[in-house]
Amino acid sequence: MNNAYRIGTIIGIPIKVDISFLIVLPLFAWFFSSQAEPFGFAGTQSETMKYILSLLTAILLFASVLIHELAHSYFTLRYGGSIKEIRLHLLGGVAAMKEEVHEPLKVMTIVAAGPLSSIIMGVLLLIFNYSFNPVSVSEGNALFLIAFILGYINIFLGFFNLVPAFPMDGGRILRAFLSTRMDFVKATEKAVLVGKIFAVLMGILGLFTDFWLLLIAFYIYGNASREEQLVKSRYTRY
Ligand SMILES: [Zn+2]
Repeated sequence: MNNAYRIGTIIGIPIKVDISFLIVLPLFAWFFSSQAEPFGFAGTQSETMKYILSLLTAILLFASVLIHELAHSYFTLRYGGSIKEIRLHLLGGVAAMKEEVHEPLKVMTIVAAGPLSSIIMGVLLLIFNYSFNPVSVSEGNALFLIAFILGYINIFLGFFNLVPAFPMDGGRILRAFLSTRMDFVKATEKAVLVGKIFAVLMGILGLFTDFWLLLIAFYIYGNASREEQLVKSRYTRY
């Protein structure tokens, strides 16, 4: 867990990259280098340029994940909570809280700020791409292509994170909403149940369509159960 390197500090929060991040970064770069336009740079003439652009896109993708985490963090600090660190790893990023905020409305704002920042970022990038691109995307220069790729992925990530299942932000928004009407453990149980139903439906769909969907479904189901146990153990000990 401690194999992480500190790369800087933003608004007083240490930013760390996990060792797994160093593996996934070249993997993403390779992915972008192998995709045809407008989702990659396979068509780029110069081999060196192809890999430089792909690596740059991968780095900027993680920079946008960092902005997503900073959006959560900004509102956490504003509402009196505190953040230990932001860590970038294999599956994205996580802002580790030191002191949590508990009021449901504030929690909803903190959680929603992440996906909303991704969607806003994505829309701005696509607007930049469509409004200023001198030629079509396929003939556009590298900068516009990067804006298109990042815009597209950020909008996807924003909406995917709104799926009401743990560990996605949508699961936390749902729990915060439910906890305005019932106690926290009950709200967690209900949100976990919704997440599990989602996971099962996604798993069934995955069985018939895409193997990756099945893997994600297992991941979501596992996380839902873990969240429930975590909350129960924290609340029944006293
Ligand atoms: Zn988030």
